[in-house]
Amino acid sequence: MKYITKYKSPNYNSRNSSKIQLIIIHYTALKNTLDAVSYLCNKEKKVSSHYLISQNGTVYNLVKDKFRAWHAGQGFWQEITDINSISIGIELDYNPNGKNNKFSFKMIYSLKKLILKLQKNYEINKNSILAHSDIAPFRKIDPGKNFPWQELSTSKLILNLKKLKKVEIKIMEKWFYVHNLKSKKQKIILALSLIGYDTREVYKNSKLYNKLITAYRIRYLNYEDKIKNKSIYNDLIKHLFNYMLTKK
Ligand SMILES: [Zn+2]
Repeated sequence: MKYITKYKSPNYNSRNSSKIQLIIIHYTALKNTLDAVSYLCNKEKKVSSHYLISQNGTVYNLVKDKFRAWHAGQGFWQEITDINSISIGIELDYNPNGKNNKFSFKMIYSLKKLILKLQKNYEINKNSILAHSDIAPFRKIDPGKNFPWQELSTSKLILNLKKLKKVEIKIMEKWFYVHNLKSKKQKIILALSLIGYDTREVYKNSKLYNKLITAYRIRYLNYEDKIKNKSIYNDLIKHLFNYMLTKK
């Protein structure tokens, strides 16, 4: 894995002693790595990320981990809204409408190595490797529906959601019942909220609710289920149960 440190972005400030807890994955939606480096290092753009990974797997370190890079923007995860202060941002040189519209083998290989290193250095939980669309589901879609999350879970970098036994599904149903959650929508919103998503406005705003569901669907449903427009309910219950078992 080629590692380049000679390009530095001026777009960062102090973390103010916040601990690094999350890794946020993005795509640049730009033409190529050269464009991405110059964009992320341009003072006027006021954006940056700690890392950029090119199509050939080269890793560019643009902002030191100890600083607060500006990649997340308005966001929310587990009640925290200043995501930049607690996260590492990784940009991928990928554009769904460009020539760089593949998550290449070399790119994903380097990404996995980088995540592993960061997880070790900062004790980052497997539940805390997130998409930009996870922390900003109402305005962001990156890294998008083709990003290979399955490869990260096969490599044990993120949580591998195990299928629930019948008795476990019953436990979840009982738990919802005890908490007086009757409608599927109520259950879905509570589960999303416990996992970490921003559900503050979604109950009364169906447009936001649908955006949140889409963000979850593109990340967690397999390709066929996405096409068939399958409900996220069963996947979400499975996710919540797995999440509760592994929470620190
Ligand atoms: Zn992004």
